[in-house]
Amino acid sequence: MQVATDFLIIGSGIAGLRAAADLAALGDVLILTKADEPAETNTGYAQGGIAVALGPDDSPALHAADTLAAGDGLCDEAAVSVLVGEGPRYVRELSEWGVRFDGEADGALAFGREAAHSVRRVLHARDATGREIARALWARVSALPRVRFRAGARAIEVIVRDGVACGARFIEHGRIGEVRARATLLATGGAGQVFLETSNPPIATGDGVTLAWYAGARVADLEFVQFHPTVLAVEGRPRFLLSEALRGEDAHLLNAAGERFMTRYEPAGELAARDLVSRAIAREARRTGAPIYLSMAHLDAAWVHDRFPNIAAACRAAGLDLARDRIPVSPAAHYAMGGVETDLWARTSVPGLFAAGEAACTGVHGANRLASNSLLEGLVFGARAAIAMATPPQAGGLTHGRVDAAALRPVAATDVPDERALRTLMWHDVGLVRERAALDAAVPVLEGWRRAARAAWRLAEADPALWRLVSLSTVGALVARGALRREESRGGHYRADFPRRDDVHWQIHIVERGHVEAEAPEQ
Ligand SMILES: Cc1cc2nc3c(=O)[nH]c(=O)nc-3n(C[C@H](O)[C@H](O)[C@H](O)COP(=O)(O)OP(=O)(O)OC[C@H]3O[C@@H](n4cnc5c(N)ncnc54)[C@H](O)[C@@H]3O)c2cc1C
Repeated sequence: MQVATDFLIIGSGIAGLRAAADLAALGDVLILTKADEPAETNTGYAQGGIAVALGPDDSPALHAADTLAAGDGLCDEAAVSVLVGEGPRYVRELSEWGVRFDGEADGALAFGREAAHSVRRVLHARDATGREIARALWARVSALPRVRFRAGARAIEVIVRDGVACGARFIEHGRIGEVRARATLLATGGAGQVFLETSNPPIATGDGVTLAWYAGARVADLEFVQFHPTVLAVEGRPRFLLSEALRGEDAHLLNAAGERFMTRYEPAGELAARDLVSRAIAREARRTGAPIYLSMAHLDAAWVHDRFPNIAAACRAAGLDLARDRIPVSPAAHYAMGGVETDLWARTSVPGLFAAGEAACTGVHGANRLASNSLLEGLVFGARAAIAMATPPQAGGLTHGRVDAAALRPVAATDVPDERALRTLMWHDVGLVRERAALDAAVPVLEGWRRAARAAWRLAEADPALWRLVSLSTVGALVARGALRREESRGGHYRADFPRRDDVHWQIHIVERGHVEAEAPEQ
């Protein structure tokens, strides 16, 4: 099955749809999306909102300052400046395209407050902002005559000829297909599924990083994973996210004795940065040997239910009342700061290959993402990708003077991994708290699994389950290698054996160049 198009977009979240909205004016667009339901994306689950400097007391400069502070010394300032500077224009455009953000009684936009933002800056649509944005983008893009969708089509390989990306191979209903395109965009979202505990849906397996890495592209900052402090921790229930906006609206974290404990660990209390709150929760749970809870019982119950209807419904399904009960919480892998390295125009190091949204590493998040900046990143850099994709590729692609990680170590032959074993290893040894001995042991195991999964998949390429294992083990190995190499603590990366930030040695990015396999002969 051979398909031709001008522009290939892999992924139907905010980044892919926003790029498609502009590309459709320039040529034929094909969007591949691996879920049968195209709306099944991380975007659709985003709750709290989209950060943007549109409020009367706000400015792009203030938004940039908060973003840089959260990024803990590793943000790319030029990328941050693009994000906060162009964000207002693209968010206004979303409103013109029909996104209904919540408003105040006087009709002005209602800005929510979230941790580490110095002002109220987060536009929201109740607690289902991502769903509302995706609804409007989908309505716009699916009406464009030059856009085609293939749902249930999973990209498995970027086609590279003479060093230039020219499309992708994919699996659809057990058959392999091939799309030829003049520009290909990876808009494949996050990688939370690499960890046992995650807020991310099953589609979030880091495919963009895997696709890019095997195409020989550079990937960066993968050791930086954001762990969200509060998912619903009820045995047998999905790890539903309990948005930061709850704490922004004064929800308290309590130990089993009913005491607020956060200020014992962090002066900013419940509104400290996510990684700090996550580790404080883990420490307090260890100290007390009991669960940690989130409570809104001191707030007006009707207001709580009205402001957070979806979260209240998820709690109700677990037999809990968000406004009255103590809600058991735990941290979970939430967001990948690293990804496929790009320049300010979403160009990767392979000409013809672009990346945007959570799959990309533009450098806007540095070592830690400011809450609600990721929808904005997908929007702004999705639009920028469209502009760059319309330009013919130049040999050479992205060139950045960054640090390349050490070459792969030799490893012994291993069996194909069991998914649960892989995710459990990542959660315990490459998760919230890391240290050398565990990482030293984990890296060769993950690398062995990566090779075994890749070899098995090569013999059965139309098997999507095997490809999923290839992606989980590839991303897992890359995250673990970065975590072992970075001997300091910064942002989302915490090393118990190197608990401090070390700017002298580590104010750098860890970059790995992808592993190019022999090219298949031209068909
Ligand atoms: C529970 C939750 C709450 C969140 N809340 C917020 C929030 O309030 N504010 C905020 O800014 N951010 C939030 N985030 C983060 C944010 O939602 C994501 O970072 C963002 O939506 C990513 O958008 P994207 O377009 O890059 O990817 P996604 O929206 O994840 O879309 C990825 C797409 O790629 C497809 N895909 C993946 N691999 C392949 C493949 N191999 N072949 C074909 N298709 C593929 C998927 O099927 C999907 O269509 C939240 C995330 C979660 C999980």
